[in-house]
Amino acid sequence: MEKSVDVVVVGAGIAGLVAARELVRDGHDVLVLEARDRVGGRLLNGELPGGAPIEVGGQWVGPGQDRVLGLIGELGLATYPTHTEGRHIAEIGTSRSEYRGRIPGLNPLALADVAQAQWRLDRLARRVAAREPWLAEHAERLDAQTFDTWVRRTAYTSGGRAFLRLITEAVFSAEPADLSALWAAFYVGAAGGVDALINTAGGAQQDRIVGGSQRIAVAMAEELGDRIVLDAPVAEIDWGGPGVRVVAGGATVRARHAVIAVPPPLAARIRFSPGLPGDRDQLVQRMPMGRVIKVNVAYNEPFWRRDGFSGQANSDHRPLGTVFDNTPPGGAPGVLVGFLEGRHADLGARMDPAARRDRVVADLVGYFGPRAGHPIAYIERDWAEEEFSRGCYGAFTAPSTLTRFGPALRAPVGPLHWAGTETATRWAGYMDGAVESGQRVAREIAPVRSRSVP
Ligand code: FAD
Repeated sequence: MEKSVDVVVVGAGIAGLVAARELVRDGHDVLVLEARDRVGGRLLNGELPGGAPIEVGGQWVGPGQDRVLGLIGELGLATYPTHTEGRHIAEIGTSRSEYRGRIPGLNPLALADVAQAQWRLDRLARRVAAREPWLAEHAERLDAQTFDTWVRRTAYTSGGRAFLRLITEAVFSAEPADLSALWAAFYVGAAGGVDALINTAGGAQQDRIVGGSQRIAVAMAEELGDRIVLDAPVAEIDWGGPGVRVVAGGATVRARHAVIAVPPPLAARIRFSPGLPGDRDQLVQRMPMGRVIKVNVAYNEPFWRRDGFSGQANSDHRPLGTVFDNTPPGGAPGVLVGFLEGRHADLGARMDPAARRDRVVADLVGYFGPRAGHPIAYIERDWAEEEFSRGCYGAFTAPSTLTRFGPALRAPVGPLHWAGTETATRWAGYMDGAVESGQRVAREIAPVRSRSVP
């Protein structure tokens, strides 16, 4: 296939689809090249026994995520609240707390330590402007250390440190030693604070999308129709002449602009000719993806609800460190969703599938009792094994990256424009950030009607 369009979009995740939709509205002729045989990227619906959809990738939305909530409304989709009624479970060290509301009944010294560390992180996050964190006060000092170093300096008790490590795994699917303290502060600030990131009611886990989150991508793809080409992994982008020439399998597409809407490590696998400016390439060399294995475990019914549990559980020592009730709106089957994150995903990925399943189910038994030992279905996805994601939830920066190469994150390079949730200034890493990035790149490319006639 040989084709010429105004704008070629690489990647049919939410960012690429939003960009394409806006560009079409602005009068451009657009073609989207998607490597997989489906749209949605990190959004993917699976199927539960009985046929109800279940989210295998990203799933929750919450207050403050105005862009994705606006898009959901525009597309005629609806949300419903995550189940939170009942007692939550928190295991830190040797103590187990069953609690309602936000604060587990743990050792008061550890709780006071967590509170002061969270207060300091929130204060830091407010100071690190989301738009240009590399210009923030003390940016270099922060970027010169890992988040682990910052945590060790800030939390005084083993319980406080364990809690911050658990949060890091749950939010970044990475270990505190992996990421720059500046990136951590930026990310927290971009979401509006620690509570916004970790809370269910009132936070990022508040609501789910009726029919599963992939419907957002599918609905946009239906609008775009044959402007999307599937099974078209882009291998090469030549931007040496006027515009671009993009090669994807058997297809060659010429365009005035290219929107590259793939995660940074995936962009680094595309051959650009001529090679990209050093700053841009050095940046993507230092932005790895987090690592997560997401599991949905189904039961005949949500038995934990009858036992007075919400289904929400956290542990600083179990591999399945974070669990929520993920039962579909009809109430059956009962579903618990859990995550093996960071180092736990490393270990989980090295186990054979049966042993991994046994480990996950054993952790659920540890949280909710013997009935958790009898699931009717087990659905898992190791996102690091996905050729066109190579990890999740998102990419982050290693130390000494944002301050040296941060501006290259969004700055267009000639006809090349960079989208994807990692480039967002609000809710980076989330669907909302992906929408922001798609809208931004569309604005970078002048609408057809305002183009000057040569
Ligand atoms: P992607 O979705 O990664 O889209 C990039 C697209 O580019 C993909 O379709 C990919 O196949 C394609 N591609 C890659 N390389 C090429 C190539 N060379 N040529 C052509 N195409 C290519 N976010 C939330 O808001 N809430 C959550 O609850 C949440 N939970 C998550 C849980 C999991 C397990 C995962 C995996 C993610 C989660 N996220 C969550 C993150 C959220 O899914 C992402 O932020 C968002 O979907 C990213 O969209 P994107 O368009 O930026 O990138």
